[in-house]
Amino acid sequence: MAASDGAGVKLSRIIGQPQLPDLDPFLMLDAFGSDDPKAYIAGFPSHPHRGFETVTYMLAGRMRHRDNKGHEGLLTPGSVQWMTAGRGIVHSEMPEQDHGLMKGFQLWVNLPAKDKMTAPRYQEIAPAQIPRVALADGAWAKVIAGELLGVRGPVDPPATEPLLVDLDLAEGIKADLVLPAAHTAFIYVYEGTVRIGARSLGTGMVGVLSPGDCIRLEAEAMAAKMLVGAGKPLREPVAKYGPFVMNTEEELRQAVLDFRAGRF
Ligand code: FE
Repeated sequence: MAASDGAGVKLSRIIGQPQLPDLDPFLMLDAFGSDDPKAYIAGFPSHPHRGFETVTYMLAGRMRHRDNKGHEGLLTPGSVQWMTAGRGIVHSEMPEQDHGLMKGFQLWVNLPAKDKMTAPRYQEIAPAQIPRVALADGAWAKVIAGELLGVRGPVDPPATEPLLVDLDLAEGIKADLVLPAAHTAFIYVYEGTVRIGARSLGTGMVGVLSPGDCIRLEAEAMAAKMLVGAGKPLREPVAKYGPFVMNTEEELRQAVLDFRAGRF
């Protein structure tokens, strides 16, 4: 679904829209991608978060992060920012360019009730820290979080034990992907077309996978690129209000009060 967020950044909302409201433990997945500065230049000025984690993965362009816990970082192509908002953080994510392509993803990962009020944390991961593993000849996976074929990603795993992989298949290549049993999983194709069993997923399409699936992927007609995410479902009540995601309405009211009182 076409959407806009922050100060008017144009994006596609993949998870967190009427056709796929949530995919426990994933609350939201946005893809942004434009070479028109008007679609991204206003960025995401200062805003709060509480109760979950925001994950930003950049494919092109640069974004400057600053938060009220003293973290500052520059997101460059291929880098990842894994921010645990916990009990509260206020940050800004602003483009550091006024021309050219800006492209990437933001994924929201829920925190279990017991961790929602944990101390905020920020992990910044440079492209060189993200290991690559071959699934087949011509099939490469960058392991951002979790473990794939014995290769561990650099993110210190939260309770949802997420697997996050950027997968690149050369034209006509087939590869098998085994997902963690009991994890909810999605696959989002951002370049090319991928055949999964009897189905084809084109650019901009998302597939929801069954827990524990072993899926055979095949890039059709041209090379294909996709983001694969899997996580342990929390099966807890979700109460959402903008950038706050808690378990009850009462906790949401408290989040608003705490933010207004400067307690983030
Ligand atoms: Fe944010």
